[in-house]
Amino acid sequence: MTIRLSGPIQPDSIVDGEGIRTVIWTQGCSHNCEGCHNPDTHDFTGGYEVDLEDVLKEIDALEYQDGITLSGGDPFFQIKPCLAIAKYAKSKGLSVWAYTGFTFEQLLDMMKANDDLRQFLSYIDILIDGKFDIKKKSLACKFRGSTNQRIIDVSQSLKNKKAVIASKYK
Ligand code: SF4
Repeated sequence: MTIRLSGPIQPDSIVDGEGIRTVIWTQGCSHNCEGCHNPDTHDFTGGYEVDLEDVLKEIDALEYQDGITLSGGDPFFQIKPCLAIAKYAKSKGLSVWAYTGFTFEQLLDMMKANDDLRQFLSYIDILIDGKFDIKKKSLACKFRGSTNQRIIDVSQSLKNKKAVIASKYK
């Protein structure tokens, strides 16, 4: 299996979720949010393809990281490889955060016909959801670009079948 990335895997980020995190930048997004900071990541044929095994090897070699963050682009356009990465990271004791332009409600609906998506969500600790809304842009938003985006506790949300904001960020 391969995954299309927009750039090198980036360890030691302190802005893409809680703690020290390694960011995996996926390629491909069709949400077209006005004012997107990463327009180069939209093209589904852009970036470059890498073997999933090579990504897992990079995760193996990580040191002093609290977790991984799947960002992009939108990782939810490459569910199968992202599921494999999230599952592997969890098996290594790393937490998993993910960013998406879909809302949690949209994902819940999509999940009904997509078991890989259901599994992928089950390996994510925190999801930042929703499109970037330039009219709601705020520099005061921790880990987010605009106030409509939410920091969601995925396990609680799946249990309750509705978005539950992570208690730390209420
Ligand atoms: S979801 Fe993210 S990458 Fe996609 S257009 Fe919106 S801000 Fe850009």
